[in-house]
Amino acid sequence: MNRVRLLVFNAALGALDYRVPEGMAVGPGSVVVAPLGPRQIVGIVWEEDRLPAESVADARLRPLAEALPVPPLRAELRRLIEWTADYYCAPLSAVARMVISSGGALRGPATMTEYRLSGGMPERMTPQRERAMERLEGEQATIRELADMAGVSEGVLRGLVNQGAMEPVTVDCDRPYPRARAGHAAVELNPEQAGVAARLVDAVNEAAFAPFLLDGVTGSGKTETYFEAVAAALDADQQVLVLLPEIALTQAFLRRFEDRFGAPPVVWHSSLKSTERRRAWRAIASGEAQVVVGARSALFLPYGRLGLIVVDEAHEVSFKQDDGVRYNARDVAVMRAHFEGLPVVLASATPALESLQMAESGIYERLELPSRFGAAELPAIDTVDLTEDPPERGRWLAPRLARELAERLDKGEQSLLFLNRRGYAPLTLCRNCGFRFECPNCTAWLVEHRFSRRLACHHCGHETTPPATCPECGEPDCLVACGPGVERIADEVAEILPGARVAVATSDTLNSPERAAEFVAQVEEGAIDVIVGTQLVTKGFHFPELTLVGVVDADLGLEGGDLRAAERTYQQVAQVAGRAGRGEKPGQVLIQTRHPDAPVIAALAAGDRDAFYAAETEARRHAGAPPFGRWAAIIVSSEDEAEAKEAARAIGGTRPDLGDIAIYGPAPAPLSLLRGRYRYRLLINARRSARLQDTLRTWLNALDFPRGVRVSIDIDPYSFV
Ligand code: ADP
Ligand code: ZN
Repeated sequence: MNRVRLLVFNAALGALDYRVPEGMAVGPGSVVVAPLGPRQIVGIVWEEDRLPAESVADARLRPLAEALPVPPLRAELRRLIEWTADYYCAPLSAVARMVISSGGALRGPATMTEYRLSGGMPERMTPQRERAMERLEGEQATIRELADMAGVSEGVLRGLVNQGAMEPVTVDCDRPYPRARAGHAAVELNPEQAGVAARLVDAVNEAAFAPFLLDGVTGSGKTETYFEAVAAALDADQQVLVLLPEIALTQAFLRRFEDRFGAPPVVWHSSLKSTERRRAWRAIASGEAQVVVGARSALFLPYGRLGLIVVDEAHEVSFKQDDGVRYNARDVAVMRAHFEGLPVVLASATPALESLQMAESGIYERLELPSRFGAAELPAIDTVDLTEDPPERGRWLAPRLARELAERLDKGEQSLLFLNRRGYAPLTLCRNCGFRFECPNCTAWLVEHRFSRRLACHHCGHETTPPATCPECGEPDCLVACGPGVERIADEVAEILPGARVAVATSDTLNSPERAAEFVAQVEEGAIDVIVGTQLVTKGFHFPELTLVGVVDADLGLEGGDLRAAERTYQQVAQVAGRAGRGEKPGQVLIQTRHPDAPVIAALAAGDRDAFYAAETEARRHAGAPPFGRWAAIIVSSEDEAEAKEAARAIGGTRPDLGDIAIYGPAPAPLSLLRGRYRYRLLINARRSARLQDTLRTWLNALDFPRGVRVSIDIDPYSFV
């Protein structure tokens, strides 16, 4: 009899066996529908000898219901799923769900209805209708999308449909994407760039596993250079995946891609509409999507013929996923390239220490671009010692920074102030009784957002409007803001430079691709003098008239419990500094700090990257930290405080006693309450040779926890909150 084993998307069910009905053709990787009790579930056919299951007699097996009309998952991808689950101690089913990430895509071809202007006029014209018709010239999309574009309600558009001014069009959900062309607008590379590009092109043509570290200063042309490898893959009819940090999925990159290749890439990120998701997924699986530009979740898609992976800004923390399957897309990208036998490029101006170490030991091939393209020079960097040159009382910008801002304004040049804090102030308290506004669900203060008049928790999204009186003592008008956020810095700039046009650039203000594009256009037109922004503006932007970058508080990143704090600070400041002087005019960077002698600040000021990495490498080696040793974390949480504590204690009480693994904790997590759950942590530091994952699995699998307790393992953690 013909039986198969299925991996199903429910960790509790494990693997299940089924009978293949007469005439159904399935094999490993096939995506199928199977009955389970009264329900139908989706599963992936897996090799029986790689997936243990309870044995069931032939006679008791139920038949598969249906083989879904999508290509089977290739063996290389199945091995990647297994590796990811094993390495990150995650259920296979949870990893597989990241692959099958569009339910609609499994259902085969389909059509949908879109609308466009018909050329006719409505019987009655209203200002809203007029506006909609003006804005929707040449557009075609669903009613909801068109309403968004035109800034009118769906009702207005339905009115236009009823009156014949708009007409429905039936479209194929899987209509093909425009084709990118390798030679559309090739650029001439300088000799340095050409050398690097030639190496990458060779690797694409060799079609074998080859990891590269593309290490080049900001503005050296890393993007331009790896575009040549993309072109080579297009020529060879191979697919390309370019991973970008979520925040960098900007219009600017997409526009640049389109200029170079004559068509936009296929994009993939968490906020795609389900129809876009389905269309992209199917094109990726069939091999029709040529170049996919995506956030980390694009890594697990079932590419039909992948030929190259690029991880741009590979040092970025946002490649690390901190819920569900806790994986690092940078590292899994290298594993995917390994299983598939293809080149992978990690591009960065400030590589992670782990990546540099891999290059140093010869595992990654290092390609360097040490100077900026063309006439642009790297900016001059100075520190401003806040203990010697402090801002006026109640202000945050030191006199020197204020002076330099004024000079730029006079010359018609642009400035950027960087502070990684959204909102107006990180803490609000009552002047009368000292009451502090805290989140009811998290161990966190509520952040005041003055533009939108609210107090918000940046962890769980809880919001309230600032009350007129103190909720504790009832005193009216007594609330004071403590510390600066970007909105407060923007106010200060407006006070000291009354004529300046100031823009706040954060995820609150640039919260859609359209608004981000509008911001870029305004800066490019010279309609903005001073940008005040968070990490959102530290990378990707190329503004030739921007000549001054001020780092409002470089010490901020060094506080807190982040074990990579120095490296993170170095990267962030170096990246934001890289925004200055990208055109013909030279750039100046001012770093405000209370610790100008701290090694990371001193290295930044001296522009001495090697010195910083050398010192940091020694510190890590000494501490047995990555890449010399390994970390893992166990996070225990429950809505019930006592239950969480008890579970953490049970884990701590059964800790294995091993020479090559040190275990610290349990202790309350720094964020001891998050989204209503009480949290405890254990931190594990292991030698490289230790059997870390096996140890963790054996340890935790021997314990039973109450239903409300969640225990997660974080391998190679980034966040220690
Ligand atoms: P990076 O990715 O290293 O920050 P980019 O590829 O963004 O650098 O290049 C910086 C700027 O210089 C961009 O505006 C880019 O278009 C331009 N540039 C780089 N190399 C070339 C080249 N060979 N020809 C023309 N323009 C280039
Ligand atoms: Zn909260």
